[in-house]
Amino acid sequence: MDDDGSVLEGADVLVTGRRIAAVGPALAVPPGTVEIDARGGIVMPGMIDTHRHLWQTAMRGYGADWTLSQYFDWYYVQHGARFRPEDVYAGNLLGAVEALDEGVTTTVDWSHGLRTPDHAEAAVDALEEVPGRFVLAYGNIFDAPWTWSRTAGLHDLVSRRLRRSDLLGFQMAFDVTGDPQFPERAAFEVARDLDAAVTTHAGVRGATDDAAVRLMHEHGFMEERTVYVHAATLGEESYRLIAETGGSVSVASEAESSGGQGYPPTWRLRAHGIPVSLSTDSSVWGSADMFSAVRATLAADRAREHLEAHARDETVTDVGLRAQQAVWWATRGGARALGLDDVTGSLEPGKKADVVLLKNDASPVMAPVLHPWGHVALQAQRGDVRTVLVDGRVVKHDHRLLGDHVARARAAAEATVEHLRREVGEEAWSAGRVPGSGTGGFDSPYTYSDHRGAAAAAPPR
Ligand SMILES: [Zn+2]
Repeated sequence: MDDDGSVLEGADVLVTGRRIAAVGPALAVPPGTVEIDARGGIVMPGMIDTHRHLWQTAMRGYGADWTLSQYFDWYYVQHGARFRPEDVYAGNLLGAVEALDEGVTTTVDWSHGLRTPDHAEAAVDALEEVPGRFVLAYGNIFDAPWTWSRTAGLHDLVSRRLRRSDLLGFQMAFDVTGDPQFPERAAFEVARDLDAAVTTHAGVRGATDDAAVRLMHEHGFMEERTVYVHAATLGEESYRLIAETGGSVSVASEAESSGGQGYPPTWRLRAHGIPVSLSTDSSVWGSADMFSAVRATLAADRAREHLEAHARDETVTDVGLRAQQAVWWATRGGARALGLDDVTGSLEPGKKADVVLLKNDASPVMAPVLHPWGHVALQAQRGDVRTVLVDGRVVKHDHRLLGDHVARARAAAEATVEHLRREVGEEAWSAGRVPGSGTGGFDSPYTYSDHRGAAAAAPPR
């Protein structure tokens, strides 16, 4: 994942302390070095997920058949506010160890359920306990961003617990409704005061549209470090503005394809030269698996390219999106999006040692390895992640995570499920899983705002 996309056969990776000291064939082994045999496997940088709602992980799989409307109904309108601090903790703990287990060494916790300071402390507690690299993207869908961003608690949390090292970063997570008064200005100003990037669901059918991007641009808040999540239903002008201002898009192809945020946009982002990172969104409906994110992105991009060509009565003989590019997005693309390109995202001397070994001698899928990019993108899966290092520290060895996080996270998630079932009521809890029992589309999912945008009524583009 260096700039040349080098693939080295039979090479070594030497880690000293927290950093990669050398990469190359037949490296000298300093005395006392622990050796991990990677022969027959693939050593790659840890993957980077730029948008994952960890707090929802205790409800894993519950919304397998949900659309975006049903997701909004459950979390934004009906039940999301029932999460206690310990439930945010449970989801974060389970989701954070899941990320490590699957070779994701850096995860943006898009944490939009932080409705009290205690919820935020609980979210950070879990992220601190798990030995991965995280970015807390602080948000609260139950209150307006122009209100929660100005509470003393947020500033206190940032100075006391976040950004103390590159293992726990900070972003501001909120959406722009398109209200012409642009009340979100206050939250953007707080982000600027705190020197923090903004990550925002932009271009999501039924929620945010071109008006949001236009307002951000008019008021000077489109920055290079801004991350636009999904960006799946925007017009040409919005993509042009994102490209011009240097921001990046976090594409969650699995969620977009299934939930209806819009068609996974990489085929358009590529045309505009917009930087891309990948994300898994939420395990409540999707797999939260970065291998799946890579596959879903390749599938959606190639399907679109073929369909567009067929509509012109042409045949694609050479696909535009290569496996190498998709793997790059899952690693280096994430590092660039988060401003961590000098920290992680590639195996290069001087970078922090966030290293993943894919090797599974018991699997018929892990041999032969003929096309390393293709093997990562379309063959390997999380069960093949044998060893994971974060910041030079082995956190998974021989297919098992070290420590007792998994058992504790599973117990905490069970308690959360019990709590939610009790609070929601058995009838609604059962009905929540069944498509068709929701309330349909929304004018706007943002209950803190009176503004009703054109997003819900806009025709698909
Ligand atoms: Zn999201």
